[in-house]
Formats: sequence, structure tokens, C-alpha cells
Amino acid sequence: MKKQLKTVLLSAIATGVALMAVPAHADAANPKIGFSIDDLRVERWARDRDFFVGAAEKLGAKVFVQSADASEQRQIAQIENLISRGVDVIVIVPFNATVLGNTIKEAKKAGIKVVSYDRLILNADVDAYISFDNEKVGEMQAEGVVKAKSKGNFYLLGGSPTDNNAKMLREGQLKVLKPYVDRGDIKIVGQQWVKDWNPTEALSIVENALTANGNKIDAIVASNDGTAGGAIQALAAQKLAGKVPVSGQDADLAAVKRVIAGTQSMTVYKPLKLIASEAAKLSVQLARSEKPAYNSEYDNGLKKVQTVLLKPTPLTRENVDLLVKDGFYTQAQIAAK
Ligand code: BGC
Repeated sequence: MKKQLKTVLLSAIATGVALMAVPAHADAANPKIGFSIDDLRVERWARDRDFFVGAAEKLGAKVFVQSADASEQRQIAQIENLISRGVDVIVIVPFNATVLGNTIKEAKKAGIKVVSYDRLILNADVDAYISFDNEKVGEMQAEGVVKAKSKGNFYLLGGSPTDNNAKMLREGQLKVLKPYVDRGDIKIVGQQWVKDWNPTEALSIVENALTANGNKIDAIVASNDGTAGGAIQALAAQKLAGKVPVSGQDADLAAVKRVIAGTQSMTVYKPLKLIASEAAKLSVQLARSEKPAYNSEYDNGLKKVQTVLLKPTPLTRENVDLLVKDGFYTQAQIAAK
């Protein structure tokens, strides 16, 4: 009884403290949003930024964008800077999923809402998560490769070990590959995470894998287009480009051209305008204390995070036109050499 009362009192005090710590934020009609992005030097994130800023401004918000350029220290410093600027919401594409817990605690103490964008932040008190279904993306990648080659030596080229998506992709890939492996049709001859999703790193990993296996690699399940590009460069040096199926994701322009040329089997199209505009809407709703429409939930180790999950689309030479129809690229961009 006594203990219960103490707990109630303590939590009342804590709530009071939290309420007092909430600074006066901008008016709800014009919320301030900070957007902390892992790495704006990467093609897709620059597009995410443009779409996000456009959509948020249309809703009356002002956006402050920061790029951490693949440095976890810089990202932490930039988020702290956004906290001291008194933004209402911070939207984060984390470089490292596991190191932002304390910084996010500070943001929450200051009354700021936190959104995990595309990549889930682990063990942290985030308010919401928005992404494409990454496990599904992994399944599509493995299915795309298996359609071209359902037997032989497979190499799994993973994403960055600091990115939770890399793990979800791998889960999806293995779900599809497992029955083939169990039957003895497919042998996984190697698997490797690619630091920072770096294409040059992917190139040297695949060069080494080819050497180690006497060039007997029949398929490569690559986790995104950047690393697929590195893998295909390594294959090309051995005159194997186009003979060994390779997957990807993002529909990067260079990858779409490779899909048309036949050196990359597939990519996964994730309409960035959709995730960016949905994230902008979600952020503004959180700033206005409105209730966003969630359709999923992910456990990040600390809590079940309310999630907006969007649908990815596999893309091969057959349906590449979708990108033009959807306004993702113009026909001229795709056709240019
Ligand atoms: C994203 C991919 C992207 C990769 C590298 C992942 O978290 O989901 O779309 O290619 O990061 O930036």
C-alpha cells in the first residue's frame, strides 16, 4: 500500500517536472520540424529531403535539415542543436540505430516529438516510425534472383551493420531462400555486411568472394542499388556481368539503366514522394497533438512503436515504365546513355 502510494507520488512529481520542462513551442499552425538525415550525399536521401520539405511547407511547417554524412557523433550533435533551436518535432534517418537513446531522451524532456524515418531507432522513446515494409523488400530481392537462377552458389551482400533495415532485409531474403537451401538446391557460399552501404566496399567484398570461390558464384542477393553497383563492377571485371543475377532496391537511376541493360536483374521501387509526404503529414499531426493513422507496430527493444508501413514494388525490365507513369523519372532520364 505504502509502496503504491510512493510510486503514485513519484510519478506525479515526475509528470509535473516534465510539464514544467516543456518549452513554449511555435504555434500549432506553423510547427518547426528538424530533419536529421544520415547521409545526404546518397541519391535517395536528397530526394527524400526535397519531397519532405515541399510537403511540410505546404502544411504550414518550417523545416531545418541536417546531414550527418555517415557520422554518429555528428548526428548526435546535430540533433542536440535541433533541440536547442526549440523545434516541435525531430524526424531522424539514423546512421546508427543503437546510439540515439540518450539524445532522444533529451528531446522528449524538452517536449519534442520524435519520428524514426525509414530506419527504426532501437531502444529509444520514439513516437512514431514510418517506412516501407523492409522484410517484404528482402523477400522481393531473393525472389527476383531466384526467378533468374534457382540453383547454385549464392552470395548474400548485406547492408550497413548499423542499420536495422539491413537485418530486416536479410530476414526476408532468408525466408525465401531457406526451402531451396534445405533442399540442397542453393548453397550460400558467403555473406557479408557492407559498412555504411558503401559501393566501393561492396566492390572489394565481391572481388574477394569471386577469388575465394574461383569465380563460381551463380547469384548475388544485394540489399540495395548502390552495393549492387559495386557487385556488378566486380562481376564485369571477370566478364560475368549479366550472367550472374543481382538484386537491389531504390530504383536509383544508374540501377534502372542496369536493369534495362540486363546486368542487374531487378530493383525495388519505393515511391519516395509517398514516404516523404506521409512523414510530413505525420510530423505535423504530432506537432498539433492530432492522432495519425497508423497501420502497424514495431518493437524497438524499449517500446512498441506506432508505425506507418508502406508497400514496395518489385521492378524488372518488364514493368520499368511504372517509374515514368509515376513521375519518378522522365522517359528522357531513363533513356539517356
Ligand atoms: C534504405 C535504403 C537505402 C540504404 C542506404 C536503407 O536503410 O532503406 O533505401 O538504399 O539505407 O542508404
